[in-house]
Amino acid sequence: MAYKFVDNYRERGARKKLVAHLEGRGISDKKVLEAIGKVPRHFFFDETFWNQAYKDIAFPIGDGQTISQPYTVAYQSELLHIKKGDKVLEIGTGSGYQTCILMELGANVYTIERQESIYRHTIRVLPGMGYNAHFFLGDGSKGIPEHASYDKIIVTAGAPWVPEALLKQLKIGGILVIPVGDENIQKMVTVIRISETDYDRIELDTFRFVPLVGDQAW
Ligand code: SAH
Repeated sequence: MAYKFVDNYRERGARKKLVAHLEGRGISDKKVLEAIGKVPRHFFFDETFWNQAYKDIAFPIGDGQTISQPYTVAYQSELLHIKKGDKVLEIGTGSGYQTCILMELGANVYTIERQESIYRHTIRVLPGMGYNAHFFLGDGSKGIPEHASYDKIIVTAGAPWVPEALLKQLKIGGILVIPVGDENIQKMVTVIRISETDYDRIELDTFRFVPLVGDQAW
């Protein structure tokens, strides 16, 4: 992989500590922990802030965008139960960090971002790191019907409800993970499609995401 930055012993050491911290917080899926251990999160940061890159916090990384908290990324990734070759739709590309984790888990990722400046930034950065996802610019609250259906769908912005379009684009047996609530606080929701017409819905822990803005959202 043609990395622009170096991944030296200091960053590798900090990344190992982050993995141990996430395990301590209850992330138990070894593959998810391994993926967190592989993706050089400091590559998303300006070199001045490399000392922040492996803290378990969300961080503003310029262009008005935020890189998600590692715990949140690990939590959503674990719920998806990614299998190698799974076709995954990600809504809210943002920094692309979550995209990289999904790809390390073996997913074939279709990711959509609504803000053009962020989209333009990420389509440069990720392939430069060797992560060649399928990138789209647009309103992901409607999914990407042209490429449906998906084994898994992950929404990385807070939604007021579960958009109907996403339910339709999920394969039978597929899993959708989406934070649902108001602008301030959301519950992580997992939806499993059990048949053409039936879905199982489970509500989990509380999180705080930036709002999902769009036709089928805020
Ligand atoms: N997944 C990112 C964090 C994303 S923050 C990470 O790993 O760091 C949420 C992103 O969702 C923001 O970039 C925001 O612009 C985007 N977003 C909000 N509503 C959207 C929509 N309807 N479709 C696509 N992207 C959306």
